[in-house]
Amino acid sequence: MKFDTVIFDFDSTLVQIETLDYLIEIANGDHVEIRKKIKEISAKNVRLYRDFDNNSKIIEFYDSLIKRMKLAKMHRDQEKKVIDFVDTMMSEGCVDLVKELQTKGVDIYIISGGFLSLIYPTSDKLEISREKVFANEFLYNKDGYISGFDIYNPLTSYEGKIKVIEGIQKSGKNLGKIAMVGDGFSDWEVGEKMKEVVYCGYGINIVREDIKKNSQHFFTKTQDLREFLMS
Ligand SMILES: [Mg+2]
Repeated sequence: MKFDTVIFDFDSTLVQIETLDYLIEIANGDHVEIRKKIKEISAKNVRLYRDFDNNSKIIEFYDSLIKRMKLAKMHRDQEKKVIDFVDTMMSEGCVDLVKELQTKGVDIYIISGGFLSLIYPTSDKLEISREKVFANEFLYNKDGYISGFDIYNPLTSYEGKIKVIEGIQKSGKNLGKIAMVGDGFSDWEVGEKMKEVVYCGYGINIVREDIKKNSQHFFTKTQDLREFLMS
């Protein structure tokens, strides 16, 4: 096998949707104005992710999270709806790909800027150990409403995914040759900054044109990604 470890992003990669935005939508029901505002903030966030000239702007991901979460009053119970929906929105061919890689002895990780409680049900089904799933964490108040997120988690910060991978390596785990599969800038930059990582652009759900333009490997079919990883 070409790779010892394959790391997947979650939102718009393993699943077709952005789970936080979907949770916010559910939580806000018919509040059209709030939904519009959230869309505006999210769109800005996407642009920040696409900014290849000034990486420091990516730090604003943190602000974007705060702004979006302040607008939405989200409850723990509403997460269940997202989880059920995610179950029907897996990216085509991804479940089979993960299983095939596992069968061949490839170590699978999920590293996401999303949230653990929305990812664990899927990663459990895929039989990826929770020790190999890294994402942000919601904080809740005593009534079960989401009151914020753990700001000390490296994934809220600049080059978060790189920090997580370095953390795993520092803990003594040898990840060997790594493929990073994802749609976003935070995935792309892992391949740029870490020599042992090959970035595999994944444009099955969304193609971010400047990432495509700046990537040596970019796939719009899971089958093509599979062939690349397996060869
Ligand atoms: Mg993504």
